[in-house]
Amino acid sequence: MKILVINCGSSSLKYQLIDSITEKPLAVGICERIGIDGRLVHTPAEKDKLVFDKALPNHEAAVQAVLSALTDKECGVIDSLEEIGAVGHRVVHGGERFTKSVIIDDEVIEAIKGCNDLAPLHNPANLIGIDACKKLMPGVPMVAVFDTAFHQTMPKKAYTYALPFEYYDKYKIRRYGFHGTSHSYVSERAAEIAGLDYHNSKIIVCHLGNGASVSAVKNGESVDTSMGLTPLEGLIMGTRSGDIDPAIIEFIAKKEHRTLDDIMNLLNKKSGVYGMSGVSSDFRDLEAAADSGNQHAKDATEVFVYKTAKYVGSYVAAMNGVDAIVFTAGLGENDKHIRQSICDYLGYLGIVIDPERNNIRSKEAVITTDHSKVKVLVVPTNEELAIARDTVELVVGK
Ligand code: AMP
Repeated sequence: MKILVINCGSSSLKYQLIDSITEKPLAVGICERIGIDGRLVHTPAEKDKLVFDKALPNHEAAVQAVLSALTDKECGVIDSLEEIGAVGHRVVHGGERFTKSVIIDDEVIEAIKGCNDLAPLHNPANLIGIDACKKLMPGVPMVAVFDTAFHQTMPKKAYTYALPFEYYDKYKIRRYGFHGTSHSYVSERAAEIAGLDYHNSKIIVCHLGNGASVSAVKNGESVDTSMGLTPLEGLIMGTRSGDIDPAIIEFIAKKEHRTLDDIMNLLNKKSGVYGMSGVSSDFRDLEAAADSGNQHAKDATEVFVYKTAKYVGSYVAAMNGVDAIVFTAGLGENDKHIRQSICDYLGYLGIVIDPERNNIRSKEAVITTDHSKVKVLVVPTNEELAIARDTVELVVGK
């Protein structure tokens, strides 16, 4: 079966068409600048990418452009749309209602809308993508895969904020966690590679990309994760601050005469390593700047590494031990210096990184020596494949 995986943002739509037998993408692409002017970048497997400037006034036009590209005589990868057996949609927030992926029906759409308050920038865009596919591919089964679902196994002690209880009662203010599809896929794959029984193991996943989060996965279930009600909490990220003293918000607002919206924009878009360094949110730029003597870039990297190591240490405590630590996402998969620096703080666990084994990019590997007490691994994440797998499982059964 061929599965169309859709990740719909407010002005972009990423897609992959995945063959469920080979588990390989037949084509990947992105529609950008939806509602502005429009551009489609389409890459059929093992071919060069093609860029089309195409008017994309709305998401329906974007889905139509994707379907046309997939079936195009020149750059297409299927003969007809009938070959698409199902569509898997990434949905950011499933609240407490969704603890796993589900087949989309009218009731599910209403329930996703019910979570819009919790992810006002993301869920409405995800719903627009679902709606557009429903219109253009009537009758094709669709599945929603939630970023939050994997973390719904967190115990109350991990997800409860120290606020008056009424705010949980009234608004469901609690920690949810994100990147769940990645944490689930990567932890299970790491157990396989490390020869661990997934259902009897303690694994810490460091998903370090532009957005970054750590999770504690015990016996195959998430028991803690660093993001919270929103993806702003936790680690330092590309442009997000992660944890700060909440009183800073009022302090800056008063000193600089700024509105709450201004401060939230500052914390989400202008902070993190970008804000600290004043250079870039991309670690490649930070490293280049640090090498040429930029002290802010050096500091930003050091603070990022220190904070990440502290989170890992706290999750060792949360699980009373750890069998494996896994690095994934853009930075975790590619940057050997960052992996080494984080693990330098974890020597007390008996972790010994093998520099030769650590000298890799974007491929599955154990990077510790054979004598290391805890295995450290690199596992490239593949959220699209995880979405396609869930979609097949729900549509055709296991
Ligand atoms: P992601 O959000 O998972 O796509 O990760 C994007 C981030 O990964 C970038 O902003 C970089 O900081 C980092 N990254 C990607 N490739 C490399 C690389 N080759 N070396 C160092 N960092 C990288």
